[in-house]
Amino acid sequence: MRNLIAIMSTSLVSMSLVQAQVSQPDWAAVETETMQHFRALLQIDTSDPPGRELPAAEYLRDVLAAAGISVELLAINPDRPNVVARLQGNGSKEPLLLMAHTDVVNVDLDKWTFPPFSATIDDGYVYGRGAVDDKDNLAAALMVMLELKRQNVSLDRDVIFLAESGEEGATENGIEFMVREHFDKIEAEFCLAEGGSVARANREVQYAAIQTVEKIPYRLDLVATGVAGHGSVPLQTNAVTRLAKAVAAIADWRSPIRLNETTAAYFERLASISPSDAAQRYLNVLDPGLAGEVDEYFLANEPRHASMLRSSLSPNLFEAGYRINVIPSEARASVDFRALPDENIVEFVEAVRGVVNDPAVEVSLGVRNTRPSGETSINTAAFATIENAINSHYGVLTLPTMSTGATDMAYLREKGVQCYGIGPAIDTEDAALGYGAHSDQERILISELHRFVRFNWDVVVELAASR
Ligand SMILES: [Zn+2]
Repeated sequence: MRNLIAIMSTSLVSMSLVQAQVSQPDWAAVETETMQHFRALLQIDTSDPPGRELPAAEYLRDVLAAAGISVELLAINPDRPNVVARLQGNGSKEPLLLMAHTDVVNVDLDKWTFPPFSATIDDGYVYGRGAVDDKDNLAAALMVMLELKRQNVSLDRDVIFLAESGEEGATENGIEFMVREHFDKIEAEFCLAEGGSVARANREVQYAAIQTVEKIPYRLDLVATGVAGHGSVPLQTNAVTRLAKAVAAIADWRSPIRLNETTAAYFERLASISPSDAAQRYLNVLDPGLAGEVDEYFLANEPRHASMLRSSLSPNLFEAGYRINVIPSEARASVDFRALPDENIVEFVEAVRGVVNDPAVEVSLGVRNTRPSGETSINTAAFATIENAINSHYGVLTLPTMSTGATDMAYLREKGVQCYGIGPAIDTEDAALGYGAHSDQERILISELHRFVRFNWDVVVELAASR
C-alpha cells in the first residue's frame, strides 16, 4: 500500500505539470454538447441483432469530420461499419486507443417506462438502451477527441478512436474484423474501453473497478449413453441417470483455486476498504491454506468472487428423453466453462473427465465463439494514470478486476495492447432495480456522465499530451 501511495503522489505532480500546459475545455459547453451527442446516439436504434449500426457510425463520422478530425468507416458488412479516427502525435510514444461499441442489446418494449430509444431525461437521469452499455463510453471518447482537437493539444502519441459494431454477439463485424484486416489502423500501446465502473452505494462512491483481465468462454458437452428400454422396467444403465450424476459431480467439484496479478491485487485492496470480517476473508483468500474455507463462503454468498478464483463450470443445458414410457439411449448436457486466462484447457478437460468418472459419459469441448486470452499489467503508466485520475475525480480506491464475462478487449490483448476497462459511476442498487446494463430498462445519472467525461479527459491528456 505504501508503494501505491508513493506512485500516486508522483503521478499527481506530473499530472498538474502537464495540465498547466494544456488549455482546459470550456466544461459548461462540453456538458451541453456531451448531452446532445449522447442523446442523439441513444436515439439511434442499434439493437443487436440485427445491429444496424450504420446511422450511428455516420453520425460519429460527421461530428468528427466537422471538427476537422480524419475519420473513416471500415466494414465487412456495409450496414455495420466501424468508425476509426486519429489525432496525430509526434510519434515519441506508441498510440493510445479509445474504444466503445455502437450496438446495444435488444429491448422488451413493454418493460420500459420511457421508450427505449427516446433518451428521456427524468429526475437527473437519462433513460435509454445503451445508457450504460456502451453509449456512455462512446460519448465520452467522442468528446475527448473533439476537445483535444479544439484545444489543439500537442500529443506525444497518436490518439485513436474506434467505435466498433457487433460487440453484443456479432464480433465478426466489429473487433474481429478490425484486428484481422485493419490492425495497423488501431494498433496501440494502451487501450481504454468498457468493462469498468465506479461503484456507488447509498449515493456515495465506494471504489473504482478497472478491468485488466477477463475469463475466456468455452463450452463443454456431455453425452451419456445407455441401453434403451421400456419405462416400466428401470435400468441401471439409464442415460438420463448417468447424465444427472455426471452433472451433479461437476456441480459439486471445487476446481482448483488460482490467483493472478489482478485478482490478488483486487482482494488485497478490497480488504483495505471492507468491514473487518469481510476484510479478513479477502486476505485469507490470498493464503492457500485458508482459501478453501473462504471459497465455501464465496460460493454461498459472493458467487462472483468464487468465479474469480478459478476456471468455473456451470451446467446450463440439459436435453434428455422424448416420452414418458421410453428409457432413452442418449442424454446430453452442456456446461458454460469459463477458463482463467492462463488455463491449460486440455488438462482441465481431462480433469473434468476424472470428476465425471464414468466411461458411459463422454466429455468434450463444444463449439462456441470463444476469445483469445491475454492479460494486462497493473504496473504500467496507464494504470497509474487511471488510478491517479480516479483518486482526483472520485476520491476512492481503484480495484483492478478480472471480468468473469468476455469483452472485445480480449482480441486486442492477444495482440499485445494493454487494455483497461473503465466506466462511469453507477448505483450498485440499479441492477437489482432493473436499470443496469442488459436490464429491462437502462439509465445513467447525468452528473456522473459529465464526471466521467472529465475523468477521461484527464487520463488521455496525462498519457498522450506532450510535456
Ligand atoms: Zn458493452
